[in-house]
This record gives sequence, C-alpha cells and structure tokens, in this order.
Amino acid sequence: MIDLESSDVLTSNYQTVMDQITAACQKSGRPTQDVTLLAVSKRHASDAIKSIHTLGQTSFGENYVQEGVEKAQTLQSLNIDWHFIGPLQSNKSRLVAQHFNWLHTLDTEKLAKRLNAQRPNELSPLNVLIQVNISDQDTKSGITLADVDALAQCITQLPNLTLRGLMCIPAPQDEATLKQEFLAMQTKFQQLKLQYQNQNNVNIDTLSMGMSADLSLAIECGSTMVRIGTAIFGKRTH
Ligand SMILES: *Cc1c(COP(=O)(O)O)cnc(C)c1O
Repeated sequence: MIDLESSDVLTSNYQTVMDQITAACQKSGRPTQDVTLLAVSKRHASDAIKSIHTLGQTSFGENYVQEGVEKAQTLQSLNIDWHFIGPLQSNKSRLVAQHFNWLHTLDTEKLAKRLNAQRPNELSPLNVLIQVNISDQDTKSGITLADVDALAQCITQLPNLTLRGLMCIPAPQDEATLKQEFLAMQTKFQQLKLQYQNQNNVNIDTLSMGMSADLSLAIECGSTMVRIGTAIFGKRTH
C-alpha cells in the first residue's frame, strides 16, 4: 500500500495539473472537456496508479512494453484505458496489440499491418495515432507531415485498427518555433478530420500534443490530449 502522505501529494499534484488544463482551456476559449489528460505512469508503481484512478482518472500512458503489460494485468479489475506512448519495435507489437487500448507512436505501414493481424478478435479495434516528427529531428521515430496521408490511407483499410489522429514530441526549442510546429500539427489534424468525416471505421478526434512544460501552448494550438508524468507522479527514481 502507498502511505497516506504520498497519496495526499499525488492528490494535490493531480489537482494542480487539472487546474492548469482548465486555465489553459479558458484562456483559449475552449470547453474543458475538449482536452483529455493522459497520466503518464511509466516507472511508477501500480499503487500510485490506483491512487490517481481513485480521483477519477481513467487514461494512463506507459512507454515500456513489458512494464505496461504487467501493470495492465495487475490492475485489470480497474476500468483503465492503457495508452502505449513509447517507441515500438516490431518484435514487441503483439504485446501492445493484446494488452493496450491505444498506440500513440505508429509510424510505418509494416507496423500497422502487424498490429492489425495481431489484435485479438474479441477486443475492439486498437486506437492508433500517427506519430509526426514535427521538428524534423534526427530520430527514427515519426514521419514527416508530407507522409501522413499515405499512412492514414493504409490504416483506414485495416479493420482491427481505428485511426484517431496525430501525436508529436517536439524538440526542445524556442516558443515561437514550437508554436509554429503545434499549429502545423493542428492544420494537418483538421484536414484529416474533414477528409475522413464520413468513413465508418475512422474517428479522427485526438491530437496528442503537449507535456508538462508546454501544456498551455499546446492547448491554445488545438491539442485534445496532453501527456503528463512527473507533474503528477513526481520524479522517476530510475
Ligand atoms: C515520459 C513521457 C511523457 C511525460 O513526461 P514527463 O516529463 O514525465 O511529464 C510524455 N510523453 C511521452 C511520449 C513520454 O515518453
């Protein structure tokens, strides 16, 4: 069990983050329910997740496959949506297809097809976001905005995946550049939304954008899901 004192800290951290989201929504004239908080619980214990869940939080993010699967199993009696937000190697895709509700980091057709084949029939389709490498970083994660249409087209043909939108992790940079990138994401998101509005197995409603440091700016630029870890759970110990 988690001791009472640390559970109090979690409660107050959680309230602070919720207040920040509310303030950012008000500032940009958006209803609070437009923005979902994803509580990023990677490297934090299941007891801490339980405490936050008790406060009404149902969406949790993990970025290590094995760790996320263990927590999903430990906490399977709770009504939690598990989001995989880390880089996904194809040899781990089956575990994500079997144990998670969402994947934020889809960036290849090959991975999309594997996940589609591996998603168990008894589960609802896996919700996926296309990861965009918006800052053009020299990383292997994410695709360019120009490549989004082709991957989106591929995903919408796969019955065991539901395309929900886009995700990005911008590089650390000045606020003006960051804002430009967030706005470019918003433009692409809105275009996809229009393009697929009448298609059955597609439901473009999620722009996963913004972390602790840039949550307000991201919400101002149209984010519908912010991913917050440390500000809720405290520093990760390893
Ligand atoms: C860890 C992580 C977060 C949360 O970061 P914090 O600094 O702990 O708030 C958000 N998004 C992704 C993809 C992450 O891996």
